[in-house]
Amino acid sequence: MKELIKKILALLFHAGRLLHRNKLIVLAYHDVRDVNCFESHLALISEYYNPVTIHQVEDYIVRGVALPPYAVLVTFDDGEPSVKYLGIPLLKKYKIPAVAFVVSENIRSKQKFWWRIVEESFMNRKRTHAEARKEIRRLKKVPNRERIRTLEQIESLYAGIYKDPLALSIADLYEMRDNGITIGSHTATHPILNQCSSDELDTEFSLSKDFFRSKAIETFHFFAYPNGDYSPAIIPFLKRYEVSLAFTFDHKINGTKIDQYAISRVRANSHDPIDEFKLRISGISTLFN
Ligand SMILES: [Zn+2]
Repeated sequence: MKELIKKILALLFHAGRLLHRNKLIVLAYHDVRDVNCFESHLALISEYYNPVTIHQVEDYIVRGVALPPYAVLVTFDDGEPSVKYLGIPLLKKYKIPAVAFVVSENIRSKQKFWWRIVEESFMNRKRTHAEARKEIRRLKKVPNRERIRTLEQIESLYAGIYKDPLALSIADLYEMRDNGITIGSHTATHPILNQCSSDELDTEFSLSKDFFRSKAIETFHFFAYPNGDYSPAIIPFLKRYEVSLAFTFDHKINGTKIDQYAISRVRANSHDPIDEFKLRISGISTLFN
């Protein structure tokens, strides 16, 4: 029975891979939590796919320069330190380029990701992870001002909770960049953009762009929507701040015509077992979504 399932999975993987051979696949990871699983993903990519750089993707989408068949772009959201410490050696081993979309205030002022502040405040009050996750989901759906007010209340109760001593440094970003990881932007504080006012949107983009400019990191124009939340109302800001590619998080493989401001990505986790990863990268799992 096990053998039969294995054969069916292998068949599905190869069928999906063939079906999507001329489509751009963008994988969206967050961290590198499971080194062995993550290495099995990279080994599979290097055996069956053509890893491409974000510059090739820009040439393809904006200028019509063809990509190789079986093109895969590997991306990471948020700027988790494990991408540097555990990701670089493996990405280099398999010669796979990647992109890390970073939250500029997390690096500039070592400000903890806001969902971690919520999680920690719940743990401090001996509440469960499930309760914290529920509150985080709620805060993603309220106007940005209300989310900030809630965070300010937490910060007034727990002094110093917003500091993240383990956040990536500027030197880390340079090291990543020198090792094949392009640094892209992911706003200044990771709000949910479609809950922001125009002024708040403007602040997020200008702070983030200033950070990139002041640190001479020239790839601000590659952008990923926080939480993947795309909205047409954000496009005027992308244009004003000269963003050329914007990535969503819709768990889809791109079609033949790609909107430069709504590029699809498939979620991947470094701890996904290889059989599950095969279903994701081949697009089989998205066919059933
Ligand atoms: Zn994010």
